[in-house]
Amino acid sequence: MSQSDQSRLAEFMAGLERRNPGETEFHQAVHEVAQHIIPFIQRNPEYEEKQILERLTEPDRIVSFRVCWEDDEGNIRTQRGYRVQHNNAIGPYKGGIRFHHNVTQSILKFLAFEQTFKNSLTGLPMGGGKGGADFNPKGKSDREIMRFCQAFMSELFRHIGPFTDVPAGDIGVGAREVSYMFGQYKRISNEFVGVLTGKGLAFGGSEIRVEATGYGCVYFMEDMLKHRGMDLEGKRCLVSGSGNVAQYTAEKIIALGGKVVSLSDSGGSIYDPAGIDAEKLEWVKDLKEVRRGRISEYAEHFDCEYYEGKRPWGIEGELAFPCATQNEISGEDARTLVNNGCLGVSEGANMPSTADAIDVFQEARLMFAPSKAANAGGVAVSGLEMTQNSMRLSWSRDELNQRLRSIMGEIHRKCIQYGETEDGYVDYLKGSNVAGFVKVADAMIAYGVI
Ligand code: NDP
Repeated sequence: MSQSDQSRLAEFMAGLERRNPGETEFHQAVHEVAQHIIPFIQRNPEYEEKQILERLTEPDRIVSFRVCWEDDEGNIRTQRGYRVQHNNAIGPYKGGIRFHHNVTQSILKFLAFEQTFKNSLTGLPMGGGKGGADFNPKGKSDREIMRFCQAFMSELFRHIGPFTDVPAGDIGVGAREVSYMFGQYKRISNEFVGVLTGKGLAFGGSEIRVEATGYGCVYFMEDMLKHRGMDLEGKRCLVSGSGNVAQYTAEKIIALGGKVVSLSDSGGSIYDPAGIDAEKLEWVKDLKEVRRGRISEYAEHFDCEYYEGKRPWGIEGELAFPCATQNEISGEDARTLVNNGCLGVSEGANMPSTADAIDVFQEARLMFAPSKAANAGGVAVSGLEMTQNSMRLSWSRDELNQRLRSIMGEIHRKCIQYGETEDGYVDYLKGSNVAGFVKVADAMIAYGVI
């Protein structure tokens, strides 16, 4: 980066941090994008003149609201709910809902900002948004989950709609929670419309949506490997997390001949040197989706190592798929991965690598796929769920899988177009940032000053 780009970036970030005090995750996500967009707009002054980056880093609006519900003992509980409607230049706001005790406005702003670029990359007409609540679903009964989802939707419903804002799932929000929220929306509005994605197949859901984020993340890795003349066959793969994204990442790796040796949750990681095969993975799905147990139980059941309180990055592997949460790979973890011979990282989770970790990966010339490219498959199939809802028909599993495969291939191609450097290394972070930016920025310019 030139001296003048560097000082422009420093000036821009100082202003952003002043306007958004204490929102460290949001600062981190914006910095990750601005480092590439600032040099790009210096060469394309129309974007500078129209103040696109400044406008893009201020959400269209943020709604914050009280969510009151009653637990099984009859105690009244109060949580804070949010919806960040970041940008709708290219389509209705679209992005998941997260229920996790650590949810803050900063985390949702970073996710909504990232979502705007990711949705643009899919090529589908979707803007960016994200929502959630500081509600901890762990240990709650099914009835408590239902009451919370209904209370949350009782307020959220007035801010969303099939042409306005279409939420989906994220951490702590799976098929069960989406169903409770959709039911409540339908009850209040008296309309059966595609206002949420990730719905059950019986009521407007799409085939492949459950699998899409994980499958897409592996398809992206497959394309990066192919670009370097390699494939997944026989590669030892480290997967973190054991929720929706981790499960289907593991499933696709296994199907393509890779060997998954780890999974994790917030308690720790398991290491299974024999490999997690399809049968063991079914056991994990049942553990997490039906019994709602801990990953430590895998180690007891299949007699392998469990590293309490640890992430899997100390285990030797050639490919890494972080699929749990933000900032789960530190600079030190990244150095350990590189020293252990890791060749590539495909981010299933949102922003799982810290800025230091990304520097380490890129200096080592690793294949590094940032989340806005690698995990875009989930929202892409959500977009296809919206299309099917509008047309009132359902495509087959094969058709949707093919569409997902081709969207991931197209994102990979765009990353190369904007991210290939002179020595042939592909900077996927730069490629995805610039490709995602251009489409949104051009739409914003077309609208004039709004
Ligand atoms: P789930 O709730 O299904 O699973 C989350 C997994 O990550 C669980 O194993 C959970 O463990 C673990 N985890 C969560 N928080 C932490 C933490 N602070 N430290 C360690 N482990 C943690 O969520 P998803 O699989 O849907 O989401 C995972 C990631 O993928 C998130 O970053 C999400 O934003 C991203 N993503 C999801 C998409 C989707 O379609 N679902 C789409 C695009 C991105 P535990 O159960 O112990 O909390």
